[in-house]
Amino acid sequence: MAKIGINIATGSLQQPEIIVGIDLGTTNSLVAIIHPDTKQPTALKEFDGSSIVPSIVHFDAFGNAEVGAQAKPYLESDPQNTIFSAKRLMGKSYKDIREHQDFFAYKIIDDNRDSLVKVQVGNQFYSPIDLSSFILSELKKRAEHILKTPVTKAVITVPAYFNDTQRQATRDAGKLAGLDVLRIINEPTAASLAYGLGMNPTEDKTIAVYDLGGGTFDISILKISNGIFEVLSTNGDTYLGGDDLDRAIIEYWMKQWSLDNLDQHTQLKQELRLAAEKAKIALSTQSIFESEFAGEKISITKEVFETLIQPIVQKTIQCCEKAMQDAGLTVAVIDTVLMVGGSTRVPFVKSTVSEFFKQVVNDSVNPDEVVALGAAVQADILAGNNQNMLLLDITPLSLGIETMGGLMDVLLPRNSKIPTQAGRQYTTQKDAQSGINIAIYQGERDLVKDNRKLGAFTLTGIPAMPAGLPKVEVTFLINADGILQVKAKELRSGVAQTIEIKPQYGLTDEEVEQRLLESITHAKEDIQKRALVEASTEAEQMLDVTEKFITKNSALLSPDELKQTALAMQALQLAITMEDKNLIQTKTEELNDISRPFAERVMDQAISSALKGKGIDDKDL
Ligand code: ADP
Ligand code: MG
Repeated sequence: MAKIGINIATGSLQQPEIIVGIDLGTTNSLVAIIHPDTKQPTALKEFDGSSIVPSIVHFDAFGNAEVGAQAKPYLESDPQNTIFSAKRLMGKSYKDIREHQDFFAYKIIDDNRDSLVKVQVGNQFYSPIDLSSFILSELKKRAEHILKTPVTKAVITVPAYFNDTQRQATRDAGKLAGLDVLRIINEPTAASLAYGLGMNPTEDKTIAVYDLGGGTFDISILKISNGIFEVLSTNGDTYLGGDDLDRAIIEYWMKQWSLDNLDQHTQLKQELRLAAEKAKIALSTQSIFESEFAGEKISITKEVFETLIQPIVQKTIQCCEKAMQDAGLTVAVIDTVLMVGGSTRVPFVKSTVSEFFKQVVNDSVNPDEVVALGAAVQADILAGNNQNMLLLDITPLSLGIETMGGLMDVLLPRNSKIPTQAGRQYTTQKDAQSGINIAIYQGERDLVKDNRKLGAFTLTGIPAMPAGLPKVEVTFLINADGILQVKAKELRSGVAQTIEIKPQYGLTDEEVEQRLLESITHAKEDIQKRALVEASTEAEQMLDVTEKFITKNSALLSPDELKQTALAMQALQLAITMEDKNLIQTKTEELNDISRPFAERVMDQAISSALKGKGIDDKDL
């Protein structure tokens, strides 16, 4: 039963079912709602007036997580246990982020380069989903504290360029935090909604959303017509933002006042960084910043600051140029330019962007809050409070297929607008596998056994190929009547098969509601189970590969190495039997550490024999 709360500040009764809008940012996150009295989008503020929660998680010696402003000082004093920018890791494998490894001061697991990244803190492993869920839990807790009512439903924003996996990861993080994520919307779309764009069904506009945050830059060109937002192009730089402006000031000061040897002084480094951010913020409204640092008077003028940051701002303009090119548009057709993100408060940024787009930019809504405010507008539309907005038909529950280990792989997340289509590629597990079973499920749980089976079929006649080589594309298509058509096609041979299903059939609204509730109550255990299945599958593959490798190349290894490998394999096998996810990961990593040098040695051998004219045959490896 939902509780009805009373807002202590205003004395007014709260709506029992409030849907919040959440901006889950790389640097900062916040929650907004449509104010029940003023009907205006409003960011939720603590008594100290702050609406912003830094997206930072610090783990203490006992593994307890602290989130937000309290966690910030640990960035310098306890970097290994302080996780920032978890959003950059969402849906990424180690391979994806390898070149930026230095950016992260904490430990990112690099053993299996193709699987999703994990972060190691002490002897615990956290996925980016876990980390984001800590931030979302904190936001939920704050919102409940401020609103004095339970908060269980949310709209969460993501960058326009986020792919399926990253969006699903964000949904999972919400679920893990106890939130029913009604919809994931694009940040630039949210910003437009906050500016009231797209609310009028007859409106037809092309807009640019320039978003310069703490560590990332995004430019999106959107077309709005009939209340539908279409992303025409996106561009940006995932490692460019306000932090770079701070760094420019730090470097200037270090040169100007010869502040060397700071590397050893964590405390001083942190102070200098804070002073630089303070200077930058001050220079957004005044022409000089003066302060004291380690006994020296330090200062910087707006003029100097602007020369320092000119190259950084210029880079964002190059991205804007590319985005315009990709959209096939000239700046003359852009009706409005919206400024989003804390760093657009810098006057030089504003003037440079206006110059590029040849128009005055729109910055009337608070750039830190605008994305969350727009998410709140969307939440209000979903709650049915805004009767003028037309709600298109949507899928009430997620649709997906069963993958290895009985996991649910969602192709169409719930609340997808229909008609719609989505596809994903899969492959075989065994050599010469001629058929692949496609089982279709509906529901929000992570294991298919807890969801509702809608149908199944087998794609047969796949020509004999080694495991992993066939490319089976599964496409879900829902037409305007809500009929789901599932098609599987092996792309190399062209063999295909199709099935048609009516997903809603037989489910009442109450049953849909019941299933959603269950997915929330079981979120934690579901996600743990999924993580365990994933870790075990990965470990089993590792054991398989190692075993094949050892059988073929035993002559190249010393008896001691063989023994070590056998022991590590046994330990991993035992961890799998014990169903201990962290242990499985540790043991997988250990086995990998032992076997990696062998693989390299065998590789070298193969290359040197190839040079002798024998040729490489990868079946020998
Ligand atoms: P994100 O979307 O990446 O989470 P935000 O939009 O919250 O980030 O932007 C955070 C950045 O904005 C920080 O680098 C912060 O220093 C900067 N910022 C905040 N206020 C100002 C200001 N008044 N002038 C200049 N920069 C600011
Ligand atoms: Mg942002």
